Amino acid sequence: MRSNHFNLSVRQKMLMSNRSESDAPDTTDPRKRHNYKNVAIIGGGLAGLSTAHHLLEKTKLDQGALRVTIFDKAPVGMGGASSVAGGLVHPFSPRGKLVHMGNEAMASSSHLIDAACLEEPSCVLRKQLYRLALTDQQASDLKNTATQYPQYATWMDAAQIKQVCRIEETPSSSHVLGGLKLSNGCQVIHVPTYLKGLWNSCIHLSNGTVEWIQTKDEDTNWLSSHYLQPFDCVVLSAGSGLLQDSILSQLNTPVNSGGKHETLTTLPVDLVRGQSLEMIMGSSVGGTKTPEREAMLCGKYLTPLPQTAESKQQGEERILMGSTHEYRENAFTEEEVVKEIKERTYDLAPDVWDTARVDRITSGVRVQSHRGQFGRLPMIGKIGQLN
Ligand SMILES: Cc1cc2nc3c(=O)[nH]c(=O)nc-3n(C[C@H](O)[C@H](O)[C@H](O)COP(=O)(O)OP(=O)(O)OC[C@H]3O[C@@H](n4cnc5c(N)ncnc54)[C@H](O)[C@@H]3O)c2cc1C
Repeated sequence: MRSNHFNLSVRQKMLMSNRSESDAPDTTDPRKRHNYKNVAIIGGGLAGLSTAHHLLEKTKLDQGALRVTIFDKAPVGMGGASSVAGGLVHPFSPRGKLVHMGNEAMASSSHLIDAACLEEPSCVLRKQLYRLALTDQQASDLKNTATQYPQYATWMDAAQIKQVCRIEETPSSSHVLGGLKLSNGCQVIHVPTYLKGLWNSCIHLSNGTVEWIQTKDEDTNWLSSHYLQPFDCVVLSAGSGLLQDSILSQLNTPVNSGGKHETLTTLPVDLVRGQSLEMIMGSSVGGTKTPEREAMLCGKYLTPLPQTAESKQQGEERILMGSTHEYRENAFTEEEVVKEIKERTYDLAPDVWDTARVDRITSGVRVQSHRGQFGRLPMIGKIGQLN
């Protein structure tokens, strides 16, 4: 059974092909006669770069004990689902329950964000975010969250949260019944900037030995076992590319299935498409200067984006809007994306829709595990030796 090879209780989504169990250098292949562990990471998005950072931190007192090479088809911060993510960091499920290992995940995320911030201080956009309740059930769930997890969540009534989130008092916003302020590690990051910061931190930790190799779509030679042979361990963290770009089948990685060797070509996951809109608007509404826009979430999200030199000069505000539930297999047309997101977010930010223009439509595909006892968990698993 293939699924036996996956331990669904661990947080990071990566598959490891571990070629050497012992710490001693492997001398069977002349290219592996070295005194350090040589690790390849395929895919440098949120999963791959945090793996690199954790590994380098673990060996930083033993400089030279580890070499890390990241293979990615995109430059740092520009590939995969990570490059288009909303950047909302919090540990709660849609119903306000703490996700499995949520406290550990928050501690680990905060640690990585702090490291990235030393390199790219502008990667944190807001130190808090707001989760709105739009139905009585949501209000009741989120009040429970505030009672159970006061370290992260504070309940705010409708008037308070509307004021902070700049939601106008109109008949259509009367369905905002209150919500949570999420803070103390819950925050909003600009993911591409964060990934650049984390990569720079990897460079420092490794004394400049970490390498980023940008691969070409048309050349898949680097995926051959010959090319990967010098590595002691290959971490596969290419997100949807594992399946969409057939990385698994190209690696031809055998798994032991009840004594029989099979080739792993698929994973027990779904691919989920998500789209968002980058919008630009004048920073003052109705002629008066308004307070900073906060990030909010409720089945859809609205988050601030970093200012560019041009938007600063023009006094403009940049905003990202998206919906957290997209299950379409085929890509939407641009008109469909705008219509869909407008329908879902208009009531929350009519001022944005009435005055802003859509600057860019972004889309990405993320990998989602199947729902289990603890909800949907990221996956980790170990697969056999490469051929
Ligand atoms: C629109 C949208 C909004 C989201 N918002 C949030 C949010 O607010 N908060 C949150 O927690 N999560 C959010 N997510 C989910 C989050 O983005 C993903 O769970 C996360 O980015 C997955 O990271 P990853 O490193 O596993 O995969 P990816 O980010 O997909 O990274 C894979 C990497 O592998 C590289 N790669 C792929 N194929 C190949 C190949 N053939 N060869 C070489 N390299 C390859 C890619 O270039 C990329 O760098 C959002 C997702 C989407 C799509």
